[in-house]
Amino acid sequence: MAPFTPEAYPEQEVQQIDVLFQQAGLRRNLRGMAAAGVTSRMRLERSSQQELIPAAPLPRIAPNDVQWLAVPAWDKMNWLWHGFSTRRGGRSRSYCDDDAQGELNLGFTPEDDRETVAQNRRLFAEAVSGDPSTPLVDVHQIHSNLVLLARAADASRQKPRSADGLMTDEPGLLVGIRTADCIPILVADRKRRAIAAFHAGWRGTVQRIVESGIGRMRLQFGSRPEDLVAAIGPGIGPCCYAVGEEILSSFESQFVYARELFREVYDSDPVRIKYPMLFMTQRAPGHSEIGPSLHLNLVEANRRQLLAAGLKPRAIHLVGGCTSCQRELFFSHRGSQGRAGRMMSVIGIKAKPESYLQKSSSGTFEVSGHDFSRAANG
Ligand SMILES: [Zn+2]
Repeated sequence: MAPFTPEAYPEQEVQQIDVLFQQAGLRRNLRGMAAAGVTSRMRLERSSQQELIPAAPLPRIAPNDVQWLAVPAWDKMNWLWHGFSTRRGGRSRSYCDDDAQGELNLGFTPEDDRETVAQNRRLFAEAVSGDPSTPLVDVHQIHSNLVLLARAADASRQKPRSADGLMTDEPGLLVGIRTADCIPILVADRKRRAIAAFHAGWRGTVQRIVESGIGRMRLQFGSRPEDLVAAIGPGIGPCCYAVGEEILSSFESQFVYARELFREVYDSDPVRIKYPMLFMTQRAPGHSEIGPSLHLNLVEANRRQLLAAGLKPRAIHLVGGCTSCQRELFFSHRGSQGRAGRMMSVIGIKAKPESYLQKSSSGTFEVSGHDFSRAANG
């Protein structure tokens, strides 16, 4: 029998191979998607790449043409600003075709010029808050679990501080984190009127940025988990986030539920699935492409941390989307081989006139409008 080359086969050839195998008294792979003859190195759930792709979310379009994502259920919290940017809108030309419309790169990347990015940030602040001059505070992200208190004055810092989370109870500013595959998480305390934004790649997730960030909110603002709501924004999906065994080991060392966050994803070539042994001989041991690849679900990992921190499942909203395979909507670092713009996820407490907001005796804000039944004496 002539050696097989790893190419796609027409169905007819697959049938011919079936016949040959039957004649030789061999049985084809009876383990479904599993690679026959390859010992499973671990018991993980198996999936095809296709079934792991999250649905793409539908953006809102601001009057200034910025397209952004929001949690519809949060619209009723009328004291809150929040939003996740997409790549659509804006003025950047560094990551698109020459004849395409400008894009909304919000990171000071080497490929883009500073003034364009600053302009994009004003457009995004305008889309979310209605005012392009709303102060926007961000951090120099270092894949840590460090969460800092933000004040409006931080927006004018020359260099942002290093951290991966920001929180505040000060109205009138947006705090934001930048991503292009990592997971953005926004948290709001409905009772104490405090908010936070976290940046979670796999390193930050292993370091429990979300759990420790919510711990910081408890210390700083007296936040109770039952009063918190959270939104997990778009990042690289389990469909695309293939990782090495060492990342599984890192998660296993930290989380009892680690294995539930990983899937084995198989090659979809029909001949390779049926007859992986044919391809095994073509490569040196340990260099086979037959085995499953290991995919990590970072959204689920961070949802589990929110649950561990005491949030109710219904208080956690998933925005959806995969930055890597929905690149018409998102920037993706991995999907663009490292040359990508950055999206931003922001949250803030609306600025209100002093007469509208009153500091209550408990130190929290009460609103004396018609929207709230617990109106203060004003
Ligand atoms: Zn994907």
